[in-house]
Amino acid sequence: MMDTKIPAQTSVKSAHLITILELIHRQPGITKPELCNQTGLMPSTVHGAVAQLLADKIIVRQGTAASSGGRRASQYRLAANIGCVGSISIRLNHLEVGIFDLFLQPLARAELPLAMSETGPESYTEQAVRLLENCMAQTSFPREKLLGVGVTLPGPVDFRTGVVQQLCGAPRWQQFPMAQRLRQSLNCPIVVDKDVYAVLDLLAQTGEIQNTRCSAYLSICEGIGSALMINGQVFRGSHSLGGEIGHLTVREDGIPCPCGNTGCLELYCSDIGIVQQYNAQTNSKQTSVAQVLALAQGGDNTASRVISQAINYLVDATSTIIMTYDPQELLIFCTWLRDQRALYFWILDTLYAKSIFTQKHAVQIRLMEENPLNLNAAAALAVRQALQEALVNPS
Ligand SMILES: [Zn+2]
Repeated sequence: MMDTKIPAQTSVKSAHLITILELIHRQPGITKPELCNQTGLMPSTVHGAVAQLLADKIIVRQGTAASSGGRRASQYRLAANIGCVGSISIRLNHLEVGIFDLFLQPLARAELPLAMSETGPESYTEQAVRLLENCMAQTSFPREKLLGVGVTLPGPVDFRTGVVQQLCGAPRWQQFPMAQRLRQSLNCPIVVDKDVYAVLDLLAQTGEIQNTRCSAYLSICEGIGSALMINGQVFRGSHSLGGEIGHLTVREDGIPCPCGNTGCLELYCSDIGIVQQYNAQTNSKQTSVAQVLALAQGGDNTASRVISQAINYLVDATSTIIMTYDPQELLIFCTWLRDQRALYFWILDTLYAKSIFTQKHAVQIRLMEENPLNLNAAAALAVRQALQEALVNPS
């Protein structure tokens, strides 16, 4: 990974450079006095770092700040022509790729319905590479300006090596060296992470999550996953299993899960789980939660039972997160709750009434309005890596 490429003898200076560069990246127009204030570094250190970044053409002057009485301070921003990054979001039944500039603005994107369970990782990766190269060709950047690629996957990944650990429902992907495989094809730095971790990291970077000391993210889509941020860092656990809440047992007498357990949470509450529950009990072939919700609203008793079962298990899952980690904020991503606010408020009311530990004051809960952030989150991984790489190998 990037941090191991920085020579040890300059690590202190490199750490300062990375800190300063990340601030200039996030706050275009920042001045040296502001950099000193925000980093606590000596003015001479900030001055030296800015001079080096200017000399390496990684940042540029963009003007001068309004005077507060003394000399007007120069403002700095990242040089826009350094390059761009690629992004690959792999979901159970869906591949999306994109090219982004270093400010996370999309330059090109493409998607493909592609099931991980049906397509082996080699073929799947080859398709992702082809789509990404097509997207890159649509931008104004020459190919050598592709500074790196970030990848998100719906399950545990060794973040240091980019090796997929195990993916529920896609057994052929186990121990697949994703980063190595993509590096061979794309010839640029690759960073791979579990999707919920990357999204939580992005939410902290964009300020969507304000309390980075202890906050949590719960994603309810094809599967169910959660992530925790402690002291500004995503908590991965020892094997990137931290937050695999979708595979907690909620029913001892439950149906078998592809993970090997029975009665797992996501079999009853994920988008796929809700549809499968309804279809199994009615012998029908619904394909989306929206259809099951419409049936419930039309008076279908089985649909109502399946939905209310999902709601109750989600309340239990949410209270488990609160009582295990005591987060300050909990952000929830779920498209069907977003579209059906009444169900979301039902969850909150049930949760608050559940125990003295889950009352409203215990945690700020918010439902996210955005579409899936996985592609942006993968791009953000690549940008962070690209900035670090730019310091090691300035152009
Ligand atoms: Zn399971």
